[in-house]
Amino acid sequence: MKNEMKMEFDAISANESFARVAVAAFVSELDPTLEEISDIKTAVSEAVTNAVIHGYDGIEGGKVKLQCRLDKDVVHIEISDEGRGIEDVEKAMEPLFTTKPELNRSGMGFPFMEAFMDDLEVISGPGEGTTVLMKKKIGCIPWIEDEE
Ligand code: ATP
Ligand code: MG
Repeated sequence: MKNEMKMEFDAISANESFARVAVAAFVSELDPTLEEISDIKTAVSEAVTNAVIHGYDGIEGGKVKLQCRLDKDVVHIEISDEGRGIEDVEKAMEPLFTTKPELNRSGMGFPFMEAFMDDLEVISGPGEGTTVLMKKKIGCIPWIEDEE
């Protein structure tokens, strides 16, 4: 099965829940489990929140692009902003690293994306915006498949 969608929305926090619900609805044709849906929604939320509060520093006017592609049983999600970008991507992805401790950020967004998805790639540079690429295979519970 192949299917693709692209959307662009304002970088405001109201769109965090919109984005994750949109992706959950799009992915539903693969019949994901509740846990798989919840994992995907969390990862999408974290990436969109990052674009809003870090990419554009909470300043309105920016746009977030979201692309979602189904390829057989794999979901590919791309979330990008044209904001400030990340100086040191490797460091930013470390657990507990945050540049906004004053906003009670815990530095767990990237670690969550990594934990809940099968693959995470972050492409970014200062002034170049940020692109987050994530992948997740749906329906991959080998011990259940074995019994069929
Ligand atoms: P939390 O997600 O737990 O609330 P956090 O957002 O600081 O805290 P991460 O999501 O792991 O933690 O991000 C780590 C750091 O990477 C951020 O503090 C920020 O400096 C940088 N970062 C992440 N996404 C972006 C982005 N889209 N644009 C610019 N910087 C980003
Ligand atoms: Mg975050």
